[in-house]
Amino acid sequence: MQNPGSGKEMADALQLHISRDLAERIGQHGAETFPHECCGALLGRDGAIGENAAGAPSREVLQLFPLVNRRDDSPRNRFAVTAEDVLEAEKAARRDGLDVVGWYHSHPDHPARPSQFDREHAWPWYSYVIVSVMSGQPADMTSWRLNDDRQDYSPERIEIRNRAAV
Ligand SMILES: [Zn+2]
Repeated sequence: MQNPGSGKEMADALQLHISRDLAERIGQHGAETFPHECCGALLGRDGAIGENAAGAPSREVLQLFPLVNRRDDSPRNRFAVTAEDVLEAEKAARRDGLDVVGWYHSHPDHPARPSQFDREHAWPWYSYVIVSVMSGQPADMTSWRLNDDRQDYSPERIEIRNRAAV
């Protein structure tokens, strides 16, 4: 799955649209909390841009909702969203007529690949953005979704747009 070529079909089907500004803010959040992980919610719309060539609806991130990493026991490598986080993020999204479309977190000094812990604690449908922060500097950013059977995940292509955040 980690070879970009091998999951091509799914990678073409799943797309996450985000402005450059918001993508950079995710990286900045990771740099601020380094060497600990940062996390937050992705607020936006599912199917906002219309059908892409593969026939799957696109998803757009329009706002970030930064969260406090509550995993005090191991804040370096344990990102977990609590039920309380979900409620707060959904409330913030609804206020602006948006939905919670996913979650982001950072991997300090580790590649932007979902860990086993990430996969075990993920929910299907949501987009999971991971930004790698190497020596305090934001590096690669990836996105993935857990498959409905919860056994595997699919990479999601991040489409960065050069326009201001809404
Ligand atoms: Zn992780």
